[in-house]
Amino acid sequence: MAKHQFQTEVNQLLTLIIHSLYSNKDIFLREIVSNASDALDKLKFLTLSDEAYKEIEFDPRIDISFDEKEKTLTVADTGIGMDEKDLENNLGTIARSGTKSFLEKLSSEAKADSNLIGQFGVGFYSAFMVASKVEVLTRKAGTPDVWLWSSDGTNSYDLENVTEKEKDFMPHGSVIKMYLNKDDSVYASRWKIEELIKLYSDHITFPVYLHYEKNEYDDKGNVKSTENKVEKINTATALWQKPKSEIKPEDYKEFYKTLSHDTEDPLLYIHTKAEGTQEYITLFYVPAKAPFDMYHADYKSGVKLYVKRVFITDDDKELLPVYLRFVRGIIDSSDLPLNVSREILQQNRILASIKSASVKKILGEFANLAKNDKDKYLSFIKEYNRPLKEGLYSDFANRDTLLELVRFKTTKDNSLTSLAEYVERMPSDQKSIYYITGEDEKTLRSSPLLEAYKAKNIEVLIMDDEIDEIVISSVGNYKEYPFKAVNRSGADEDFKPEENKEKEEAFKPVVEKIKKALGDKVKDVRISKRLSDSPSCIVIDENDPSFQMEKMMRAMGGGMGNMPSVKPILEVNASHPILEGLQSTEDETLIEDISVVLLDQALLMEKSELEDPSDFVKRLNRLLSKK
Ligand code: ADP
Repeated sequence: MAKHQFQTEVNQLLTLIIHSLYSNKDIFLREIVSNASDALDKLKFLTLSDEAYKEIEFDPRIDISFDEKEKTLTVADTGIGMDEKDLENNLGTIARSGTKSFLEKLSSEAKADSNLIGQFGVGFYSAFMVASKVEVLTRKAGTPDVWLWSSDGTNSYDLENVTEKEKDFMPHGSVIKMYLNKDDSVYASRWKIEELIKLYSDHITFPVYLHYEKNEYDDKGNVKSTENKVEKINTATALWQKPKSEIKPEDYKEFYKTLSHDTEDPLLYIHTKAEGTQEYITLFYVPAKAPFDMYHADYKSGVKLYVKRVFITDDDKELLPVYLRFVRGIIDSSDLPLNVSREILQQNRILASIKSASVKKILGEFANLAKNDKDKYLSFIKEYNRPLKEGLYSDFANRDTLLELVRFKTTKDNSLTSLAEYVERMPSDQKSIYYITGEDEKTLRSSPLLEAYKAKNIEVLIMDDEIDEIVISSVGNYKEYPFKAVNRSGADEDFKPEENKEKEEAFKPVVEKIKKALGDKVKDVRISKRLSDSPSCIVIDENDPSFQMEKMMRAMGGGMGNMPSVKPILEVNASHPILEGLQSTEDETLIEDISVVLLDQALLMEKSELEDPSDFVKRLNRLLSKK
């Protein structure tokens, strides 16, 4: 027998589990039974698709038994089973990316949120919520060795080859035995197990049998005889196959929880049956909270593919577009061959058309939600606005629909707006949709660039999400309205140029003075049409990449890291006393001090870093001490 240490992450997770992060212990049975069902799915697929498994006798079933006196509960399946390596990888480590940071976040929160860990899905380890010791006896299909894994959930587990001892063990499958805590002995009872299976696992597509003892009593109430009984306790029909009229909302919700390991109800479900040229059923769910790995490059796919009710894969990220990676559910096609291989899946015409129809359907439901339930839609947007924006960038075919779905912050108030609402509020002579991009909402809202827009009652969209910049520039326009960034030259066409002509003439010499003083620090100096209170602001040339984009490109390195840095255009406010003061002086130091301070304060307002802060302070102090 060999002792193995759990990976640190497993230990952390177990500590969290045992100290009852879950308010609802019942769900451990759902986790164990759905693992058993997955193991049966995997073997079923192999027997249908892989010659090597053709000979295997496959009697798919899940058997639950218990011992009231010993306080044990056992769940057995005739599925794929595990070998030594599988046990080490699956029940000693957590392979999922992002686990570490997720657990750190959980542990650092004073009151850990059980919903958070719920959507992470602790699976097998949840057995330790109710058991002080767990044993897994298992043999992988097609291999000779039987293994016994056991642990009390503290730091380590034992792994033993028990092939000799377990000569009669079934040819493949796993038996999970849980030694229940004293307080949790209720799970070693017939009524509780039946209740939980009905509640959580009724739709498991394989039969679940419960083994129990039935006593016969004599007249005096003594046990006369005991009979061993086995009873099937689930319906064992795939939920998605049933007619919609026979499925209750609770059934949909419970199925979702088994499918996703989420403890919360889904925000939305979409059940579709397609008949005609193509026959398939889809059942999609949107989790109430975004999956914790949504922003990890190797997120786990949430959609399972079935062919004629037979599970094929849960690891195909092509079933839906990447931006819909938060969607959970199943696709069950009647038109694909059962022995479909991965290569076939990759470029399959049938799947491609299911995919595009599904995307249309899902986006259509989002649009319905936006129309019919504003509050719910807002909670949807809170979680998924960002992936929808990714869709704007990547899903050209559905761009128009997605443009109606995304929401933006706005200078109008603190709510979120749709583009349709923005356009409806536009003054009749406004030609463009204005937006401002940057990293920080507060800075953006107080940007001097917005002054003239405010004064003219023109609403500006606040875009503080780092992908906004790329997304919006790739989209270009909404209906006939182009998007214009207010921090760029050219975004002032809604301001009348005539008004500025006179000032421009009068201040030409001042502009020249500033230009000379700043040299190659700026691309240009101009009299601004959009400032009213502030003396200066910076904008970027219409054709230059933005500062943010530049930063991102530099971070990406490579050839783009060497590109010349973008120079700002300084816009100055001709109506400001500082500018008027500049008109009447020829003192070169003074002109230079004022010019640099005008530029640097505009940069500071944008939360940009100054190239030479001490120079700025020196000049500022010189100006302040001037008599
Ligand atoms: P998840 O099911 O989310 O992957 P679990 O912690 O529940 O996470 O299980 C980890 C892994 O252990 C599973 O992915 C599976 O490979 C393996 N496993 C668990 N239970 C069984 C079982 N009854 N038969 C075969 N493999 C199993």
